[in-house]
Amino acid sequence: MEIQPARHFIQGAYCDGVQGKWFETINPTNGEVITQVAEGFEEDIHRAVCAAHQAFHEGPWRRMSAKERSRLMVNIAEGLEKNGEELAYLETLDTGLPIAQARGQAARAADNFRFFAKKAEEMTGETYPVDESFLNYTVRRPVGVAGLITPWNTPLMLSTWKIAPCLATGNTAVLKPAEWSPLTATKLAQIIHDAGIPEGVFNVVHGFGETAGAALVAHPLVNLISFTGETTTGKEIMRNGSSTLKRFSMELGGKSPVVVFADADLERALDAVVFGLYSLNGERCTAGSRLLIERSIKDEFEERLKERVARIRLGDPFDPKTEVGPLIHRNHYQRVQEYIRVGLSEGATLAVGGFSPDDQVGNFVRPTLFTNVRNGMRIAQEEIFGPVLVSIPFDSEEEAVHLANDVAYGLAAYVWTNNLTKAHRVAGQIESGMVWINSQNVRDLRTPFGGSKNSGIGREGGHYSFEFYTELKTIHVSMSHHPIPKFGKVE
Ligand code: NAD
Repeated sequence: MEIQPARHFIQGAYCDGVQGKWFETINPTNGEVITQVAEGFEEDIHRAVCAAHQAFHEGPWRRMSAKERSRLMVNIAEGLEKNGEELAYLETLDTGLPIAQARGQAARAADNFRFFAKKAEEMTGETYPVDESFLNYTVRRPVGVAGLITPWNTPLMLSTWKIAPCLATGNTAVLKPAEWSPLTATKLAQIIHDAGIPEGVFNVVHGFGETAGAALVAHPLVNLISFTGETTTGKEIMRNGSSTLKRFSMELGGKSPVVVFADADLERALDAVVFGLYSLNGERCTAGSRLLIERSIKDEFEERLKERVARIRLGDPFDPKTEVGPLIHRNHYQRVQEYIRVGLSEGATLAVGGFSPDDQVGNFVRPTLFTNVRNGMRIAQEEIFGPVLVSIPFDSEEEAVHLANDVAYGLAAYVWTNNLTKAHRVAGQIESGMVWINSQNVRDLRTPFGGSKNSGIGREGGHYSFEFYTELKTIHVSMSHHPIPKFGKVE
């Protein structure tokens, strides 16, 4: 398939950047240039924001009935399904995500639109009757122009997770996709346009975080910033957006514990531990990247884990049998390799995997497992965001909870035990936005998604997305001749 240059999409049409500059997107499998990408700057962001602002204030989008908007959102879902194979191909080409998993992500992108199409139609307010004197009620209104800033991991799924609730509630948007994965966002713009969404409602500007991203955050006509990415970037964005008082949603990094107790179904726990870390090339925010294993079963479980990790299929992401593909970018590959060096220098045992050859073409990192890890080590505390798992033993329930919480992040956690009360007790004590008991990450789109501590602020998903993407207005109606103080009437 011939890949066209990735251009911005503003006011219903593709366009080049104002400065006429381009950058390259690179194939992670072979290091070759896939295509050129338009590089956006402040001027391009300004054009896109003005288009979105005009579409919001003057266009039909926010005035449409929820039903009509919902119909158009379903059109987008159908467009995504029709183009699912091409989208999966582009995602694999651009990011190295194995094709079987990229197909799953493309299907989820369509689900995101179907889900929020329905959900937005069901949006309701609250009423507060006050005896017979007042009837007070709330309504939800779209906020305005949203800046959506997304990372390079599962970029299609994550961008649609923001775009769908944002548009379904009548806002307009400017998407700034990650610079390492621009292809599916470019195709998505066409699909959204073809679905019948009015011009200016959805815009895409490519470019780097420090220029295009920062300009979007600072723009005074942007009311909301929904950001997914690294914690340090999130902090920078909040600083930069503070002078224009924006509403923020922050989905940030993670270092999530998987606590496996001796009384768990160990075969299922093993499946979930391996999938939870090594799927999506280990580039998953909710990855269970810290295995906390009860000491009485440590040796047995780690032996079985080693066998499984050693057999994970690393290779060509277009081979449907591949389980782990190349990492997104050479810089990220080097960062993950550096963490393997750090783990060795900290004295952890490299049980499986390790360095890739220096002259290797493509960003392939061998699925890696460190054992004999202490929780204070950097490999146990910092987000590696690659196929590297660390295993830490514990002796008691109290110690498991302590270790699970002794980390800066708090996105997800996974608890494995067949003891009912222990499962709920531990789930309740772990400091994280989400916990799964006896399961890998299985999403229910109705439930709130997000993290605590350094993993984020706010929740998206279900009606929680509407907390962010709508303004809640309270209307107070007098139903009687209630008393009004008569200032200035006193004799
Ligand atoms: P990143 O923070 O480097 O970049 C994310 C986006 O922010 C990119 O589009 C980038 O261009 C932009 N950006 C960078 N600097 C900016 C600035 N100063 N102003 C505005 N925009 C700026 O993150 P990444 O490396 O692309 O993604 C990986 C990270 O994302 C990991 O930490 C991962 O855990 C996190 N993540 C979190 C979730 C979640 O839901 N909590 C989901 C997926 C990924």
